[in-house]
Amino acid sequence: MKKIAIIGSGITGCTLAKYLSDQFEITIFEKSRGIGGRLATRRNEDFTFDHGVPFFEVKTDKFKSFLKSTVDDGHLKIWEAKCLKVKKNITSKNLILNKEECKFVGTPNMNSFLKNLVKHIDVKLNCKITGVFKSNNLWHLNSTNNHVYGSFDWIVICTPAYQAFELFNEQNSFMPKLKKIKMYSSYSLMLGFKKRLDLDFDILHTENDLVKNIIVNSNKPERNNHQLTSLVINTKFVSKKLCNSKKKVFIKNILNIGSEMAKADLHKYSISDLHFWKYAEVKCTPKFDHLINKSISLGICGDWMMGNNVESGFLSATSFIKKM
Ligand SMILES: Cc1cc2nc3c(=O)[nH]c(=O)nc-3n(C[C@H](O)[C@H](O)[C@H](O)COP(=O)(O)OP(=O)(O)OC[C@H]3O[C@@H](n4cnc5c(N)ncnc54)[C@H](O)[C@@H]3O)c2cc1C
Repeated sequence: MKKIAIIGSGITGCTLAKYLSDQFEITIFEKSRGIGGRLATRRNEDFTFDHGVPFFEVKTDKFKSFLKSTVDDGHLKIWEAKCLKVKKNITSKNLILNKEECKFVGTPNMNSFLKNLVKHIDVKLNCKITGVFKSNNLWHLNSTNNHVYGSFDWIVICTPAYQAFELFNEQNSFMPKLKKIKMYSSYSLMLGFKKRLDLDFDILHTENDLVKNIIVNSNKPERNNHQLTSLVINTKFVSKKLCNSKKKVFIKNILNIGSEMAKADLHKYSISDLHFWKYAEVKCTPKFDHLINKSISLGICGDWMMGNNVESGFLSATSFIKKM
């Protein structure tokens, strides 16, 4: 069996691994300690927070059928969330968005369905790849743990564009394309309340310049703990990571705006945590849905080629497989 190395275990990498595992021996390399990439869940004391993707939508039949087994096995559920939209002028009446698409959430954690999809595949966690190179016509990977992995017939990189760019020491035709891609950064503020908050929404979208949305994580399926409330507040895009001295004011602003929008005092939390997403969303999608060079057996896929959502990662991976 030919061997493939996949770098990145988000939806893109896991889709590829799942589809190709019948014909190839697959190894996934993931720098974090868990599978999922931006489909992420963090625990803190009694609270859980999906601090990346809060939920996702499924628009194509192809994606629906790919996910069917995980829905049937209970690793992915529809969240019948009450959605509100607060207009810029917050005194105007809130809009109830009940005609939105179905919202899917991994259960009990956002990455649970991906874990299930790749349960038979060799995944090397805590393994950051620092460079890729060819030797004797086969691919090898350098890692931060000083190990050289190899040899592989194919390598497919499923990371945000700049993280893919950084892996090449030698010039290749993909590098100018990767370098051009710009991505937005954002923050997610996690708040845990030991007392249940009385909120009239599950998802609150805002038109505010700082706060993008407020998600009542504890109202999702299989996160229910009726005594607690866990909230995730996602910000709009920020230009760079804040230094520690600026974080306090930043959090205070989010809490003030969030409290006003949610009509609840969010300052009285028991625990809080702030996560910086350096590569949250692509600024402008390129005119390709994957990159492939068959003569050197190299591929690159990712959500950023097709949009800013989970389904784009899936579609990029499947378009690559067709051309492989
Ligand atoms: C705050 C936030 C909110 C979002 N909201 C939504 C939403 O509501 N709906 C929606 O559909 N989408 C949403 N998205 C977008 C969604 O998360 C992405 O579209 C999707 O998860 C991207 O999947 P991916 O596999 O392409 O990339 P990723 O999930 O980023 O996976 C890439 C993986 O590669 C790993 N990696 C990177 N470099 C290396 C290396 N050198 N070595 C080893 N591993 C490496 C990373 O650790 C990561 O696990 C949101 C994203 C964020 C951050």
